[in-house]
Amino acid sequence: TLLLAVSFLATMLTLSTSQVLPPPLLTATCPLPLELSPVLLTDQLTKLAASADYGNMVHVEPAAVAHPRSVEDISLLITTSYNCSLPYGVAARGNGHCTKGQGMVSDGVVLNMQSLSTGGNAGTKIVVSSDRTFADVSGGALWIEVLTEALKLGVAPVTWTDFLYLTVGGTLSNAGLGGQAFRFGPQIANVHEMDVVTGKGEVVTCSANKSSELFYGVLGGLGQFGVITRARIALAPAPQRVKWARLLYSDFATFSSDQEKIIANNAHPDSVDYIEGQVLLDNGTPNLWETSFFPTDAIPTITSLVNEKGIVYALEVVMYYNPANEAIKDQQMKQLIRQLKNDRGLAAMKDVTYYEFLTRVPVPDPSIPLAHPWLNLFVPKSGVSQFNDGVVRDIVMRANITVGPVLFYPVNRNKWDDKMSVVIPDEEIFYAFSLLSQSNVGDWQKYQDQNAAVLAYCEKAGIKVKQYLAGHSTQQDWIKHFGPKWAGFQQKKAQFDPKFILSPGQKIFN
Ligand code: FAD
Repeated sequence: TLLLAVSFLATMLTLSTSQVLPPPLLTATCPLPLELSPVLLTDQLTKLAASADYGNMVHVEPAAVAHPRSVEDISLLITTSYNCSLPYGVAARGNGHCTKGQGMVSDGVVLNMQSLSTGGNAGTKIVVSSDRTFADVSGGALWIEVLTEALKLGVAPVTWTDFLYLTVGGTLSNAGLGGQAFRFGPQIANVHEMDVVTGKGEVVTCSANKSSELFYGVLGGLGQFGVITRARIALAPAPQRVKWARLLYSDFATFSSDQEKIIANNAHPDSVDYIEGQVLLDNGTPNLWETSFFPTDAIPTITSLVNEKGIVYALEVVMYYNPANEAIKDQQMKQLIRQLKNDRGLAAMKDVTYYEFLTRVPVPDPSIPLAHPWLNLFVPKSGVSQFNDGVVRDIVMRANITVGPVLFYPVNRNKWDDKMSVVIPDEEIFYAFSLLSQSNVGDWQKYQDQNAAVLAYCEKAGIKVKQYLAGHSTQQDWIKHFGPKWAGFQQKKAQFDPKFILSPGQKIFN
């Protein structure tokens, strides 16, 4: 009886052990690390979610989705691939807000970066330094989380994207551009240091002075050289409120000349703190952007102007202030508005909290599935007038299909460091132009055709635009995109990710 009982116990023990430690998960080419089994999800629902992004046009299925608990988990996952004869791809996924499958991987592992906290502070994604001049932030933290934590201590990052439900690692892999960039540069220009897991699985702390090749490579590096697990973000005292104005123009030359005058003043202490611009099109759909900002009695005038002209340009400026200097800021804003040459009377001003201003773009309703065939360009100043005629008027306005915001505003090149991987036009001032179209799922081809027509026009007219958040599909296109930076980019790939493991969805090397 005793022998039988021992043998039964042994069998049970073997069974339960085999339940705790299942055989390793496999990609087509390599086993995934057994130690990561608890954080590797392979159910269809999770894989489906990782096979889509905000664009909703590309769908690629991974073998598994990892929810890393630590930097070590990420390192182990990448090292295992690196040591395999046919490595699997690893794609960091921030919030999946790219539009062209850049965060996807076929038969590899998607890393859900939002599950990662900062090292040494279990569960914490954001740690503000004791002198409040910087925050150590997990690569998977959302910018809204950074804002909320920093504001508790009266500080905030200085430069923002328009929408804050994007991750720190995701925007630092691109640029992180918004209306503060003319003054403070993009988000990639406001990082002191990063922890990065390279394509060899090595964990490296890098900055402008330490492993600087990797540091500058990763900034705007499209996820090609390492997974950003921690970034040290510059902070400054946060203002409490903002004066926020929008002014309308029917003439592009006047609109852009006023924008450029404002950004030329960016070193002055009384400079505006934010500037953007939009193109309002007469496309038959009510434009929420205008109707939610301008007083109701101004809407008929705006609508008839847009109807008459087909296009109206809207300049947007913001000045930050604290209650103690409200009177001065109010005066400065009114003085600025008086100097600007907008169409008479078509200006409106709001006064909101800093938080309300930064969170002005709402989270889209997930129950309405849409595709987002976006085109984001950097247009050199020398070609911007021709771009306005050939693209905005002749292509976009005539096609009359664009639904969604169209952004158009200048930034200064001197706020960008050429050592960073991001590619921008070779002129002191260039414009960010975004066609943020949306369509029903599966109905996006006509928008992609319009985007292709815009690019073809620029090519033919010799306007040297650069795509931002690009989705080039061949290496030849990427080589052209990077231009003189290609050789350095390729050399860094060989150094930091020689087996082409990281972010294969960018289609640069894979
Ligand atoms: P993902 O889309 O998940 O990832 C983007 C790329 O970066 C992928 O290749 C991924 O593999 C890689 N990656 C992600 N995390 C890491 C990491 N930790 N380390 C290394 N690589 C990583 N951009 C602007 O600049 N300004 C804006 O104002 C702006 N507004 C936007 C508004 C909306 C509604 C949307 C949908 C996007 C907007 N974007 C804007 C674009 C945004 O910057 C990109 O979508 C960017 O990819 C960040 O999104 P994400 O954090 O979801 O990263």
